[in-house]
This record gives sequence, structure tokens and C-alpha cells, in this order.
Amino acid sequence: MSAAIIDGKRISSEVKEELASEVAALKEREIVPGLAVVLVGENPASKVYVANKEKACAELGINSVKHELPAPTLEDELLSLVERLNASPDIDGVLVQLPLPDHIDEKRVLEAIDPDKDVDGFHPINVGRLVVGERGFRPATPSGIIELLNRSGVELKGKEAVVVGRSNIVGKPVALMLLEKHATVTVCHSRTRDLAEVCRRAEVLVVAIGKARMITADMIRPGAVVIDVGVNRLENGKLAGDVDFDGAMGIASAITPVPGGVGPMTIAMLMVNTVEAAKRREKALVK
Ligand code: NDP
Repeated sequence: MSAAIIDGKRISSEVKEELASEVAALKEREIVPGLAVVLVGENPASKVYVANKEKACAELGINSVKHELPAPTLEDELLSLVERLNASPDIDGVLVQLPLPDHIDEKRVLEAIDPDKDVDGFHPINVGRLVVGERGFRPATPSGIIELLNRSGVELKGKEAVVVGRSNIVGKPVALMLLEKHATVTVCHSRTRDLAEVCRRAEVLVVAIGKARMITADMIRPGAVVIDVGVNRLENGKLAGDVDFDGAMGIASAITPVPGGVGPMTIAMLMVNTVEAAKRREKALVK
């Protein structure tokens, strides 16, 4: 048996194509979705992420406005930029690229973003909306995972789902989203007693640890659907996921590759949130 590949590149292209037509329709009604991206300092990885977000905006016809601030920028200066963007009528989404320099309180900055422009879904109000099942912005990576499963025809209702990792950006929100889809969800972390035994229960296994190839074939239930969120740089320079891909291929029914699985979905879902924010602006204008 060889697992089917869940192709994140293809599925993210599908999502983006659908979005491009939504953006075109919005433009006909004179609404141009706008995303402001704020980058503080010179973190090379952050620069690449920001460039990729701008590229995706350009492809879809979304107006992206980049604000690059020097590393010594004061917290108050950043907060007043966020306030200006919150008030700007052309800006639907405000995104502050993390991490921020050490002298800036990340939590304070994220909480300053208007929850209705918080397309990253990190504001505690949006986290709360997710917990109680209300409409709000949801973080991109977990939304991307659910979209991959949906579009691959994986039924979640009643399934045993195991999430390995409990971070605020992946593990916890994806566990809540799986629960919302009526899966029976178990969340594992570094203190889980017998990780292998718990993972073997999973019909859907989502892994977000950050340790290359930690989940081996013997930890996977035959026929499981495996979503590998991990991105790890190996000594030879190549990327690897948290799952031993070659081993898993022989036992899972479907698996996401790294790269080319969850990664491409993250930016696509950020674009979905931005377009959604623009649609809400239009509705508010009509009222
Ligand atoms: P964090 O470091 O914030 O969280 C890692 C989680 O893994 C923690 O909950 C930790 O447990 C758990 N963990 C660590 N070691 C073990 C272990 N031995 N056994 C069981 N659980 C363990 O990572 P993130 O959630 O931010 O990211 C996870 C991975 O996903 C990374 O490789 C990251 O690069 C990747 N990622 C990919 C994205 C994409 O777009 N493709 C987006 C975001 C992340 P504990 O809480 O107990 O410490």
C-alpha cells in the first residue's frame, strides 16, 4: 500500500483561483481588499514571509501595503501605526509579522489590532470566538489544515483525531476546529505519557512539533490520514517534516508532504481572511 499525497500546492492554487474571481467581483463593486503588513527589523525569515504574502496579494489583485520599520522602533511608535491602520478605511487586514524585537511587547501589539481587521486570528477576541464557535478570524495554518482535509474528502465526523503539539498558533486552534467538525480529539504534548500509543489511535493524525521525523511508521494507525505541519531544516540543507514520510507512506492512507503540504495553505488562508474582511466592509457600507 502506498499513501495518497495530499497536494497542498494544488489545493492552495484552487483556493487562490476562487479568491481571484471573488476579488474581481468585489472590484467591480469598487471594493479593493487591502492588507497592511508591518515588519519591524531585519529578521531574514520574516522578510521572506512578508515578500511571499505581498506576492500572493499581487497575484489575487489584493492591495498590499508594506510598512518596514527599523529594529530600534519604539513600542509606542508601532502602536500608533497599528492605530492608524485600524482607522484606515482602505485597509481590511492588519498583520504584524512576528517575532518582534525583544524590547517590544508582542502581546500588547497583537491586542492593539482591531479584532475585525485581525486576519492572522491571534487577537484574544478571535481566539475566544473560535472557542465558543462564533464567526471571527481564524489562524491561517489550522484553517489551511481543515481546508486540506475538506477538499480531500476526509470525513471528520465521529473520527478519532490526535493532534501532537499544543501551540497557540497550530495545535490548540486545530484541535478546536477538529472538535467543531465533530471529531473526537486528543491533544498530545511533551508530557504525554505514551505518545506512540496515543498516536496509534488516530484515524486523523495532525503533527505540529518542530522535530524532524519524530513520528515514525510504528506510531501510525494503518489507513490513517496524516497531516504533517512541521518544517525542519536538515543538516544537508533540505526540509523535512515532523513525520518520517517514507515510513508513513507504507502505512497511512493519505499524507501531506513537506514541503508542498500545509505550508502553501497558510498564505492562501490568510488571503481568504483578507477577502472576507473586505466583504464585511462592503456589507457594513451597504447597511
Ligand atoms: P511550538 O514549538 O510552539 O510547539 C511545539 C509543540 O510540540 C509543543 O506543544 C510541545 O509540547 C510539543 N512537543 C515538543 N516536543 C515534543 C515531544 N517530544 N513529544 C510530544 N510533543 C512535543 O511549535 P509550533 O506549533 O509553532 O510549530 C510546530 C511546527 O510546525 C514547527 O516545525 C513549525 O516550523 C511548523 N509550522 C509550520 C507552519 C506552516 O505554515 N507550514 C506554520 C506554523 C508552524 P509542550 O507544549 O509540552 O512544550
